[in-house]
Amino acid sequence: MPELPEVETLARDLAPRLVGRSMAAVQLRRSSVLRYPDPEAFAARLLGRRIEGVGRRGKYLLHRLEGGELLVLHLGMSGQWRWGLPSEPEPTHLHLVLDLDDGGQLRYRDPRRFGRVLLGTEAELVAARCLPRLGPEPLDPTFTPALLQRRLAGRRAPLKAVLLDQRVVAGIGNIYADEACFVARLRPDRAAGSLGRAAIARLHAGLRQVLEAGIRSRGTSIADYRDAWGEIGHGQERLLVYGRAGEPCPRCGRPLASQRLAGRTTVFCRFCQR
Ligand SMILES: [Zn+2]
Repeated sequence: MPELPEVETLARDLAPRLVGRSMAAVQLRRSSVLRYPDPEAFAARLLGRRIEGVGRRGKYLLHRLEGGELLVLHLGMSGQWRWGLPSEPEPTHLHLVLDLDDGGQLRYRDPRRFGRVLLGTEAELVAARCLPRLGPEPLDPTFTPALLQRRLAGRRAPLKAVLLDQRVVAGIGNIYADEACFVARLRPDRAAGSLGRAAIARLHAGLRQVLEAGIRSRGTSIADYRDAWGEIGHGQERLLVYGRAGEPCPRCGRPLASQRLAGRTTVFCRFCQR
């Protein structure tokens, strides 16, 4: 599933290509990927509109349009948002096609269809319950160890579950949660509120370290993630524990354990993580 580094890579790549362009044609092939507004309003509100910026909030990719509306994509499990030319062969599972005024084309492909597309002002999308209230951005300068401590305080749920909660911290999913817990030497099944000052500092540093490494690797392509040009990222080549249950721990060499937490397979070292 695309997490913060994957969506950040898309936003950084697409911004120079898309800013200043406007929508020349809108083809919604499968209306179920559109969560807001209805298909007629979507096409009418998008057509001719210029893109003023491309950014990210949590795992949401945001295209800021003239007039203040946002075209929002959440890639779900398997969504791909790709720039190309209309002459390129069409992939399967293509749900939305946007033609741009410079002859380029944006394509939304999503085999498993857990992704979603939204259009509206931020206030409108929050009011329609299409955009959740997201927690702080972990790479933002205002995200300090003290802020992380306040977000985790009093939480009895497992640390892994709390890190996956987008209202606590935005943008973290299964891959980077496991990696950060390993780097911070913290068991993902301990109560999130049980972390002392030193542990919080290690977790804060670990989160930033794995997310920044993920961005430098242009994202992690375990299954379906591709960048805006259809290329895979390279984060999977440097994963320490994610997907490596039973393999030797990179720190102590003993086999990595696996446990289901918050419904997700979680990999960690029983000896190095406390
Ligand atoms: Zn170990």
